[in-house]
Amino acid sequence: MEKVVIIGSGPAGWTAALYTARAQLAPLVLTGKQPGGLLTTTSIVENFPGFPEGVDGYELMTRMQKQAERFGARTSFGVVESVDFSSRPFTLIVDGEKVVAETVIIATGASHKHLGVPGEHELETKGVTYCATCDGALPAFRNQPLVVVGGGDSACEEAMYLTRFGSVVHLVHRRDSLRASKIMAERTLAHPKIKPIWDSAVTEVLDLKADNVTAVKLKNLKTGAESILPVAGVFIAIGHVPNTDLFKGKITLDENGFVVPQNGTMTDIPGVFVAGDCADHIYRQAITAAGAGCAAAIDAERFLAAENQ
Ligand code: NAP
Repeated sequence: MEKVVIIGSGPAGWTAALYTARAQLAPLVLTGKQPGGLLTTTSIVENFPGFPEGVDGYELMTRMQKQAERFGARTSFGVVESVDFSSRPFTLIVDGEKVVAETVIIATGASHKHLGVPGEHELETKGVTYCATCDGALPAFRNQPLVVVGGGDSACEEAMYLTRFGSVVHLVHRRDSLRASKIMAERTLAHPKIKPIWDSAVTEVLDLKADNVTAVKLKNLKTGAESILPVAGVFIAIGHVPNTDLFKGKITLDENGFVVPQNGTMTDIPGVFVAGDCADHIYRQAITAAGAGCAAAIDAERFLAAENQ
């Protein structure tokens, strides 16, 4: 039986692994489909303390994994199919195999939000993408007009990154000011290749007949005017949804699907803890997720210690 199973391998998961490993609990980390989590799809992370020059997101996650493994964390590239929290020890089905655990730390993070407009789903991987760092350098996007949708830090980051490849990067936002942090917003709007399109929404991705992205249909939300913007790529950066489907009906989630901790990092099931973006709709930073992973690990360690007294 495992003492601690950690579901997820982003900053929250690896930090929880580091702390529980150093507490000699030999945690098992189930990485999920995207080992390292969303941060591995970012380019340079400039706001993780300790890296004055910035650090590549993939490298940061690899370093966290190595650090946790150095103290005895074990990694399984498994995907959890179901959990049974109805009695302890808890049972998880991971790629068809049963894993039994005294405690579980949920650190499943979040996934990209979709626009839900016609053509978006059909043209995914044919010009529609949710990750500039993953796809921006593709030949289809080189020296072509591109569009980024969103007004937060992610949208700014994507737009800045795409200036390396596109001929022009349109930034479509539904309001007339960016939500992004001031430094990111200023840097983005000052870039000569980035052209903001304010108060506007993408209402359709074209062209299904061509089976490729050729343009987006735009609607000005103030005037109602519609227009067609020719582009070769659509980069959607409109936020995230928590990866918590697995836990519906098993622990308390809020109306948007975020896990609601009840006591520190503990959920309403004693022995099940939570950390990171799957429980955080406010801060959503790598460093806050890492901090929450630390807290969940300490809570799990104390929970196990109290039982064994
Ligand atoms: P976010 O801050 O939630 O911003 C999402 C943006 O998408 C908002 O501008 C929002 O518009 C827009 N939006 C949401 N739903 C939409 C829809 N259906 N149609 C059109 N637009 C829509 O998300 P994020 O940019 O992914 O950032 C998430 C968190 O990660 C933030 O805390 C951010 O600071 C952090 N982050 C940090 C960095 C960094 O520091 N390097 C990089 C990336 C992300 P409204 O503004 O009108 O709501």
